[in-house]
Amino acid sequence: MIRKVLVSSCLLGRNVRYDGSYKLAEHPVLDRWQSEGRIVSICPELTVGFPTPRPSAELTTGSGEDVLRGKGSVLEQTGRDVTSLYIDGAAAALELALSHGCKYAVLTDGSPSCGSSFVYDGSFQGNTISGNGVTASFLKQAGIAVFSQKQIEELDLILRENEAQERADDTFSGSPDLEVRA
Ligand code: SF4
Repeated sequence: MIRKVLVSSCLLGRNVRYDGSYKLAEHPVLDRWQSEGRIVSICPELTVGFPTPRPSAELTTGSGEDVLRGKGSVLEQTGRDVTSLYIDGAAAALELALSHGCKYAVLTDGSPSCGSSFVYDGSFQGNTISGNGVTASFLKQAGIAVFSQKQIEELDLILRENEAQERADDTFSGSPDLEVRA
């Protein structure tokens, strides 16, 4: 059975980023996944009604985990607190992933929603810190493995190995039982 992958919409060339741009990953593996019908696409922020363009936003304290524990927040550069909307977007992403049976996601690194290895530190000065965005944290806590766009090949290898193992298991379970003699 083909394993589907949740992918950030902006990596697929959709103009959904805060500044109206996209962040096309342009990777042959993504092209192949598209043709295999493997990709489930989402922008958590647009899903909950943010427009494009919109003010940039950053996590103000720590990472997405802090936000989910009620210890951090997400603020737009204007000062507007958008924390609850970011959590709603994360929940929508998880719901979509589960409805398609996705166990893996490829999300855009650096985003306050989708970042999986770094995020911006809340100063709006271009400073980064290690950590997850809110959606990436939410998915990880639900057991979905999150990869950045730099790890597409790594995930592709995992998918191929998993599916090859599944095919081998199916072949084995479909073969007649061996007669066991004492
Ligand atoms: S929320 Fe995620 S999918 Fe949407 S623009 Fe930001 S990085 Fe891309």
